[in-house]
Amino acid sequence: QPVLGILGGGQLARMLALAAAPLGVKTLVVDSAADACAGQVAPLRLADWTDYATLEKFAAEVDVVTFDFENVPAETAHWLAERVAVFPDPRALAVAQDRLAEKTLFRECGLQTPAFEAIDTREDLDRALAVIGAPAILKTRRLGYDGKGQFRIKQLSDADAAWAALGAQASAHGLILEAFVPFDRELSVLAVRTRDGDFRIWPLTQNWHTDGVLSLSLAPAPDVDALQVRAAELARVLAERLGYVGVFALELFVKDGQLLGNEMAPRVHNSGHWTIEGAVASQFENHVRAVLGLPLGDTATRGYSVMFNWIGDLPDPTPVLSTVDGHWHDYGKQSRPGRKVGHATVCAREAKVLAARVGEIAQALKREEQAVPAVHALTK
Ligand code: ATP
Ligand code: MG
Ligand code: MG
Repeated sequence: QPVLGILGGGQLARMLALAAAPLGVKTLVVDSAADACAGQVAPLRLADWTDYATLEKFAAEVDVVTFDFENVPAETAHWLAERVAVFPDPRALAVAQDRLAEKTLFRECGLQTPAFEAIDTREDLDRALAVIGAPAILKTRRLGYDGKGQFRIKQLSDADAAWAALGAQASAHGLILEAFVPFDRELSVLAVRTRDGDFRIWPLTQNWHTDGVLSLSLAPAPDVDALQVRAAELARVLAERLGYVGVFALELFVKDGQLLGNEMAPRVHNSGHWTIEGAVASQFENHVRAVLGLPLGDTATRGYSVMFNWIGDLPDPTPVLSTVDGHWHDYGKQSRPGRKVGHATVCAREAKVLAARVGEIAQALKREEQAVPAVHALTK
């Protein structure tokens, strides 16, 4: 039985392990957090990401290594790649870890991005603001997730406050200033590429964020015909350029019919959780297949899907569980403000049927605000 090693033990690792089991693939997860939720599956505890003694044992026990956590230090990923097959390649990981390298690559691949400038000093910030203007977003180049490590500059006089918030991180990690895009909507491309270069994408997903955290996803995204083809092309160019193997997500803004690249996630992605029940093969199954050199499963949908993210704490599962084609995912994590603790996916063959199911669940859970954009998109 092949063993898949997973760096990072969050919910993504757990869902990968659940998808691996029926393929006859065992998983071994390493993490430094004591409460890693995938620890329920198969734990190996690291002191930190440079705990090479434990990583040595890990490398000896697994056939292929992949990632749940995109911020595994590049040195650790390279060290492992000298001992065992690592997918995606640590070079792809390194690009995705750095917003500056990532956006530069997007442009080289023909994907436009919001205007951006690298920021290392307070003077750089003034210079960049003079070029980009306000509103803008100052972000750490590295280690940001769920909107953390970001400061929204509404007017030029916010520069001092932005520097007070993030300036201390400029020397260690670097910062980037981006133009704030008043986008019409946000989409993500979930794509998968095998070791032999077979490339597929799932239908585009539309996403809504609250305070920088994904709140709701709808798939397939409505009215995307031309964008679907363009997004698939861009994702393929990017994947080939990186020699990418496995699943990745490309987060996009749509503004006046144009696609702008926000970031890529070199792993399975929250906006693809709907594929577990809503697609023939899920992102988790196809990631496992791709990194182990197995043929890919079909990325077609089984209809329409809406995913609610549960942030902070879990609501009552009953309304979802008593809905036809409603599915509950409790990550088994402690409640904490801003933390992703679970999600629910609701599917239906017809858009209007799904809108009704989602509307009823939202009403029962008093989450109308969270659900309203999807209900609107499904009924218009
Ligand atoms: P993730 O959890 O997706 O990795 P992150 O911390 O890397 O999040 P981003 O994806 O950069 O953060 O930003 C989070 C959200 O904030 C975006 O999905 C978008 O809604 C908004 N946002 C980020 N950058 C911009 C921008 N330049 N213009 C407008 N909105 C933006
Ligand atoms: Mg990110
Ligand atoms: Mg993002």
